Amino acid sequence: MAVLVTGGAGYIGSHTCVQLLEAGYDVVVLDNLSNSKQEALDRVNSISGKRFEFIKGDILDIDLLDRVFTDYTIDSVIHFAGLKAVGESVAKPLLYYHNNVAGSITLFEAMQKHNVKNIVFSSSATVYGISDRMPIGEDAALGPINPYGRTKYMIEEILRDIYASDNGWNVILLRYFNPVGAHPSGLIGEDPNGIPNNLMPYISQVAVGKLKDVNIFGDDYPTPDGTGIRDYIHVMDLADGHLKALEKLKDSPGAVVYNLGTGKGTSVFEMIDAFYRASGREIPYRVTSRRPGDAAECYADPSKAAKELGWAARRGIFEMCRDSWNWQSQNPEGYTE
Ligand code: NAD
Ligand code: UDP
Repeated sequence: MAVLVTGGAGYIGSHTCVQLLEAGYDVVVLDNLSNSKQEALDRVNSISGKRFEFIKGDILDIDLLDRVFTDYTIDSVIHFAGLKAVGESVAKPLLYYHNNVAGSITLFEAMQKHNVKNIVFSSSATVYGISDRMPIGEDAALGPINPYGRTKYMIEEILRDIYASDNGWNVILLRYFNPVGAHPSGLIGEDPNGIPNNLMPYISQVAVGKLKDVNIFGDDYPTPDGTGIRDYIHVMDLADGHLKALEKLKDSPGAVVYNLGTGKGTSVFEMIDAFYRASGREIPYRVTSRRPGDAAECYADPSKAAKELGWAARRGIFEMCRDSWNWQSQNPEGYTE
């Protein structure tokens, strides 16, 4: 019995594949490499010392999915594949709805046809509406504010409807907060295309000398130091959360949702300081205007995952910065194949 990992060559997928392989799972990766490189998978192989199947292909390709579910005995699916750049989703909504929503529907149709009814889906904290009530529990109001977030919301709803129509399905929706960090080997990590949108890869690229200084998007928020607060979570902890979710599928949980976050908020200034301490590199910065759509703070209530999955994040901000720096300094240009 194998786990099909869509988007397994990507940032979170590659780290999860390492953990799956090390835990003894058989893994089949399906990825079109639109935002990743085969080299990441070669490195997953070196870290784990385990072999696995890689199929280069698209979740929109129904014939390919048919073959994958015919050729391999798939028990469950971890569905990471999707486009994730918020700004690009605003500029190209149809691309996002097509790739993420139509792609997911195609995948779910193939699963239904082949009687594979266990799925763990990568959702996101962006499905929550902007709220003053922190921490955010799974029951908080939903209200994504951009097309990317809406694709996640729609896919969640589709999966809930599929479960309502057929209770034989088991659906675990994981709402990630802010994944950062890298495998401690420094062999795999986050490799964004072009100038990073997110804070951690931006800071790492300043530290390694690729970018001049960090633009801090506003220091006049109603937070202790005026900068935005987020719940950063080490990608290795996130990967562990997926293994716990896979185990949970065996209890026939129905359709359930879990926040994967640490429950702790960290400001932009605190993150820059932690990165400096972890890397020994000065991180020049300047304060610029707020980024439209940014909330002052956003952090999880992760107690449901602790109670029901037996999962809690173990790694702190220092380890997140240390491992990001380890990856960035060993791979200043990312994957280079
Ligand atoms: P990523 O871009 O590194 O990985 C996604 C992978 O999916 C890539 O390897 C890409 O090539 C592949 N892919 C995209 N469209 C595909 C398609 N149509 N067919 C086959 N493969 C396809 O992103 P990530 O950071 O690893 O995120 C994984 C998932 O988690 C995504 O669904 C993302 O939306 C979600 N998520 C990410 C974050 C984050 O900050 N990184 C936060 C919340 C949720
Ligand atoms: N941020 C920043 N400069 C950057 C990128 C991000 O000051 O170059 C801030 C942003 O305003 C937010 C925090 O860092 O308060 C995290 O931003 P990121 O884009 O990483 O995550 P998201 O806002 O999507 O949760």
